[in-house]
Amino acid sequence: MSNELTSSKPIYSVVAPVYEESKGLPEFYERVRKAMDALGEPWELVMVNDGSRDNSLEVMRQLHEKDPRIKLIDFARNFGHQIAVTAGMDAASGDAVIIIDSDLQDPPETIPDLIAKWKEGVEVVYAVRRTRPGETWFKLITAKLFYRMIYQITDVQIPVDTGDFRLMDRRVVDAMVNMREHNRFIRGMTSWVGFRQAGVLYDRDVRKYGTSSYPLRKMLRLAWDAVTGFSYFPLQLTLYVSLILFLISVLAIPAVIVARLATGVVWFEGQATAIVLILLIGAAQFFFFFVMGQYLGRIYDEVRGRPLYIIADTFGFNGEQKIHRHRVNMQPPSSNNEPT
Ligand code: UDP
Ligand code: MG
Repeated sequence: MSNELTSSKPIYSVVAPVYEESKGLPEFYERVRKAMDALGEPWELVMVNDGSRDNSLEVMRQLHEKDPRIKLIDFARNFGHQIAVTAGMDAASGDAVIIIDSDLQDPPETIPDLIAKWKEGVEVVYAVRRTRPGETWFKLITAKLFYRMIYQITDVQIPVDTGDFRLMDRRVVDAMVNMREHNRFIRGMTSWVGFRQAGVLYDRDVRKYGTSSYPLRKMLRLAWDAVTGFSYFPLQLTLYVSLILFLISVLAIPAVIVARLATGVVWFEGQATAIVLILLIGAAQFFFFFVMGQYLGRIYDEVRGRPLYIIADTFGFNGEQKIHRHRVNMQPPSSNNEPT
């Protein structure tokens, strides 16, 4: 590799979150390197170690020793996939930033296709899954449902069947770096930013090593983040439910009275009816407590204003790195500090 290619400012930043992927990392690096070197332009690979308990960090450090274009961020603990991607984007310095999973499910060979579209002037190029071999039918169905539900409910047009595998222009990245919300849904945030967006089809690969760390619990959490982050739908649901209950009562009360007076038949008798109704209404009310609690909790997350992640160590970034840029953005506006 020539010195010029390693030292000049990267055009492309490949950002990969890493959680316990030590077995696959050397192959991941090899395939990224092959795909990127073929382009003949400077690039960097920013890997974020999201609190892996295996020796992923060791493996990455060895790769970094070999190839200084690899830069590492080591989190103080596991902060989750979306936050790891965020840290990588904060630190990336390329004109185009590519987000890719490090488990080789997103083939690095697709990156040049994304770049080709970017060169046509598209600012967000997302990779659309044509196939997803090796996933359980449960994952396939929940993922399909997930994407369609998000598409229907949320206010931004989030393309279906796309994960986080995508390329973003510097302008989009700069906009997103300023979005410091704590419960992050990166796909939604990229759509929200706007600019020209287009998809490129690809075939998702099977996971070669290790297991998925997105169990149902985490998928539901991500779905909630998507819904609450990009819509008020769950809150608006209260209106629909109250209207339905109101309508039923408006119709039912006269019906019961008329039936009794006209025919002497008694509809709905006794405690059992009352108990069932109370439980039903109670359940609906508790559900909406939950919904409001979800929004409240997210407001609380924002009000506390904690940093999104804590970095234990970095490798390969020289001097005062851009990585700290977000701290500047988190400062309150100066007018708030002035005595009143
Ligand atoms: N990942 C991460 N932090 C986590 C879980 C996962 O950085 O807490 C990384 C993981 O190493 C992988 C990517 O995020 O590169 C996607 O995770 P995974 O393959 O488990 O999800 P799936 O592909 O099953 O949706
Ligand atoms: Mg995966």
